[in-house]
Amino acid sequence: MMTDTLPKALADWREAPRVRAMNDREAPAKADYVLCWLQQALRAHDNPVIDAAVRLGNAMGLPVLVYHGLREDYPYASDRLHRFILGASRDLGKGCRQRGLACVHYVDRSEKREKGLVYRLAARAAAVVLEDQPAFVAQWQAERVADKVDRPVYAVNAACTVPPAALAQDIRATSAFRRRHEAVREDWYDWHDEEPERPPYDGALPYTPDDLATMDDAALDALVASLAIDHDLPPVARFPATRAAVTERLQRLAEVVLPRYADARGDASRADGASELSPYLHFGMVGPREIVAAVRGADVSAEKRGKYLDELLTWREWFHYKARRMRVPESYARLPDWARRELAEHAQDERPNRETLHALVHGETDNESWNACQKQFLLDGWMHNNVRMFWAKWLIQMTPSPEEGWATACYLNDRFSLDGRDPSTYGNIAWAFGDSAPGYGRRPIYGLVAYRTDASIRKQKGGPAWLAEQAARPAIKVHVPRTPPKDPYLSEKVPI
Ligand SMILES: Cc1cc2nc3c(=O)[nH]c(=O)nc-3n(C[C@H](O)[C@H](O)[C@H](O)COP(=O)(O)OP(=O)(O)OC[C@H]3O[C@@H](n4cnc5c(N)ncnc54)[C@H](O)[C@@H]3O)c2cc1C
Repeated sequence: MMTDTLPKALADWREAPRVRAMNDREAPAKADYVLCWLQQALRAHDNPVIDAAVRLGNAMGLPVLVYHGLREDYPYASDRLHRFILGASRDLGKGCRQRGLACVHYVDRSEKREKGLVYRLAARAAAVVLEDQPAFVAQWQAERVADKVDRPVYAVNAACTVPPAALAQDIRATSAFRRRHEAVREDWYDWHDEEPERPPYDGALPYTPDDLATMDDAALDALVASLAIDHDLPPVARFPATRAAVTERLQRLAEVVLPRYADARGDASRADGASELSPYLHFGMVGPREIVAAVRGADVSAEKRGKYLDELLTWREWFHYKARRMRVPESYARLPDWARRELAEHAQDERPNRETLHALVHGETDNESWNACQKQFLLDGWMHNNVRMFWAKWLIQMTPSPEEGWATACYLNDRFSLDGRDPSTYGNIAWAFGDSAPGYGRRPIYGLVAYRTDASIRKQKGGPAWLAEQAARPAIKVHVPRTPPKDPYLSEKVPI
């Protein structure tokens, strides 16, 4: 847990198990602020990263400077992802100012290259507080900064209700995780926004921040259009990147989704079976505790609440917990030995359903049901929970080898889905590729890895019509490499 290496302001905090010291540097005698570097937890309230920084700042008599920067060159940077992130960042800034905190932004671009900005900001800080994220770019950036910065660096878990470090560290199965998590989760439901004792920082900065607060949607769109990123992939209207959209969804969750969730969640053709909160959770525009509060406040039976909370708290946090124990959660090597052995033994089996990556990306394969699913990723930047299971399992037989199937699943999730690049992405893909109970019988291509058809959606009353309608949606045309790009983090080095 490493709380013994934390300063008193953090060690005495009820949220201390969220925090870990990432280096053993000393705070300098003089500093301007405590730097709170947000990478993914883009919310101003119920944000333990900000709260940890405020506690440190109060103890040191310093203000907090919240910083969010967006590079042009992270993997899969596109209009879709950039626009969502910048919308979130804009509302983060507004919320911070209302909370009495200075928040500065930086949008990396050719005419405004601020090399090493985090290091330059850190050089004026007493300490750096950042996020403890176990996957994708945030994980590696945090490690690199902690290694190079001559300041104490603290990583704070903001993604989970129960910080993984507060649980036993030897949990091996979902059922055991559920039991342990259920036993303590209520202790972690409440939060308290720490109040800064110092006025917002308005001193010198090593750069001129981008003023997102004064930019309306058209200005953000224009900024995104000017960047050297993937412009083939447009933003999606279905998921507006605003806190107002989060609030609306929380209300819809309580009033529309929860009363029917237990029945409707297995039917992708029904609009009331999904809260559609995962993009907002991935980019931290809402934390799980705020969702739990909405669920607990809903006028529905405990059983109905329980089903939803099991998805949100058990499954989601299980994948976070697992990812933390892996060096590279994106890696095919995370699969259990037996599953890799089974898939390898059947790697040479004939694959009559093979498709090109181009057809897969555009949802233009010979399989209508699979196309319906992929059109959701391509056009909506999201896919319904129930059909994701079929989508990933079927992909195994549509690709030349299990390893390429894995790389393709990660690529499609990470490039197209707003909630991709997440511990839940790789944990669920691993589930589909055999990190789960074996199937009942051996099959070609899959061996003993469990197989799944489209029956769960086809058998629904509105299923066949929904599949046909979704599959027929015109695809947008995007560039596609011949093979899926290799995951940049497999090398265990930050590529950017
Ligand atoms: C192959 C595959 C790939 C997936 N990829 C992702 C991904 O990239 N990012 C992602 O966030 N989720 C992923 N999931 C999990 C799940 O499908 C999505 O979280 C869910 O569909 C999001 O929609 P929702 O918010 O409407 O979910 P709801 O049904 O409303 O569920 C509420 C919340 O519970 C959590 N949840 C539900 N099911 C799961 C699950 N199986 N695992 C973990 N958390 C869950 C999510 O946070 C979700 O927002 C994947 C599942 C599969 C089978």
